Amino acid sequence: MKIKRNDIVVATRGRDGQGKGKTGKVLQVDPLAGRVLVEGINLVTKHVKKSQDNPKGGIIHKEALMAVANLALFCPHCKKGVRVRRVVEAGKRVRHCAKCGHGFDA
Ligand SMILES: [Zn+2]
Repeated sequence: MKIKRNDIVVATRGRDGQGKGKTGKVLQVDPLAGRVLVEGINLVTKHVKKSQDNPKGGIIHKEALMAVANLALFCPHCKKGVRVRRVVEAGKRVRHCAKCGHGFDA
């Protein structure tokens, strides 16, 4: 997986234009499915019935899992989503921005 929890990513594609170009923090990673949950991106609308947790019911917006292929790591130097170069440094696999060399795992 090129993306890890707490990474800042940018959506390169979005369903119905939703979320494209948006950045957000990775909340959850599902490596087997190749899908991640990103804060504020790929929101789905859910209609909720009245319950103890939600006594009013109504409509809530919730993040849905999205494919890693539709995301790019956000480089704070390039100020955009970039491709990642993976290298081994001191026995550790680290990720660098393919453009400016910014280390994501420093
Ligand atoms: Zn960069």
